Amino acid sequence: MYDLIILGAGPAGLAAAAYAINKRLETLVISEDLGGKINYHLTLAGFEGHEIITGADVVEKFKRQLEYLNFAHQIDRATKLVANNRHMTVLTQAGKKFDARAVIIATGASPQRIEVPGEKRLIGRGLSYSSVSHAQLFIDREAALFGCSGRALRSAAELAEIAKRVHLILPDRGEMDSVLGQKLRAHPRVTLYENYELREVRGEDYVESVVVRGKGETSEIPVQGLFVELGLIPNSQLAADLVLTNAAGKIVVDSKCATSRPGIFAAGDVTDVFVEQVLISVGEGAKAALSAYEYLLNQ
Ligand SMILES: Cc1cc2nc3c(=O)[nH]c(=O)nc-3n(C[C@H](O)[C@H](O)[C@H](O)COP(=O)(O)OP(=O)(O)OC[C@H]3O[C@@H](n4cnc5c(N)ncnc54)[C@H](O)[C@@H]3O)c2cc1C
Repeated sequence: MYDLIILGAGPAGLAAAAYAINKRLETLVISEDLGGKINYHLTLAGFEGHEIITGADVVEKFKRQLEYLNFAHQIDRATKLVANNRHMTVLTQAGKKFDARAVIIATGASPQRIEVPGEKRLIGRGLSYSSVSHAQLFIDREAALFGCSGRALRSAAELAEIAKRVHLILPDRGEMDSVLGQKLRAHPRVTLYENYELREVRGEDYVESVVVRGKGETSEIPVQGLFVELGLIPNSQLAADLVLTNAAGKIVVDSKCATSRPGIFAAGDVTDVFVEQVLISVGEGAKAALSAYEYLLNQ
């Protein structure tokens, strides 16, 4: 029986593991990989790069610590989480079964794709799912952004302050009647394509253009990047029957990363925390571990 099982080894899970191990908790991390979404990078044609501190640099250190402690992790997929009277059981794809007195769910969230030709090939090569992370790379560049939710419009507004031009492709009216929508309509650097479909992403090595269809016509817009802002799908299915989730399927946590069920904690993109970012997930993971530690002390 472990004290703590951590599901997922992205920034949240890795930070939680580092804290739990420091607290001398008998800890096991079960994850399909080590690093999670820090393995994603965005590059652009002609982008020189500069000295920046990235969240990934911090996470790499946690990752190396866990790689070294190979008894403390299993590369596997958790398929089921069962809550028993006094402990939790995790079943895995490899047919294994592990018990622990507490669990931290840090399984992240996957970006919703558009599933059009060119998308998969150009991910990270001008195509991004996170404008909060990458909008700043678009100084003096043109970008397209696909989506019409409040989140997509916030991303478009941020991008419009940086990029030379934003081509905002709206599959439907979405949140365009909001204050932000009205601001975007009036913005001199935003071109709107309302009720347009995104048909294809083109480019040899990097995004060079997007093909859209609307008003009965197909056209090609030259851009250096595309942001797909259709939202994130939380990897919370594992615990959906055990803990409270919100309308988007994100696990609801309190300020101590505790879920609605004692002994189950959650951290990072899988939760309803504000903004998906590496450093926020690191902080949430640390918090979840300390919170689980406090819970275990009281058992
Ligand atoms: C394309 C893209 C680029 C981004 N760029 C940046 C950036 O530049 N800067 C920034 O700050 N943020 C960036 N972000 C956001 C950032 O990556 C996330 O906020 C952060 O990685 C979330 O950490 P996490 O640990 O919650 O989840 P994740 O990083 O998603 O990690 C989840 C972990 O859980 C594992 N897992 C999932 N399901 C299971 C299961 N059933 N069983 C076992 N393991 C499982 C996965 O293998 C993975 O290890 C980007 C996001 C995307 C999508």
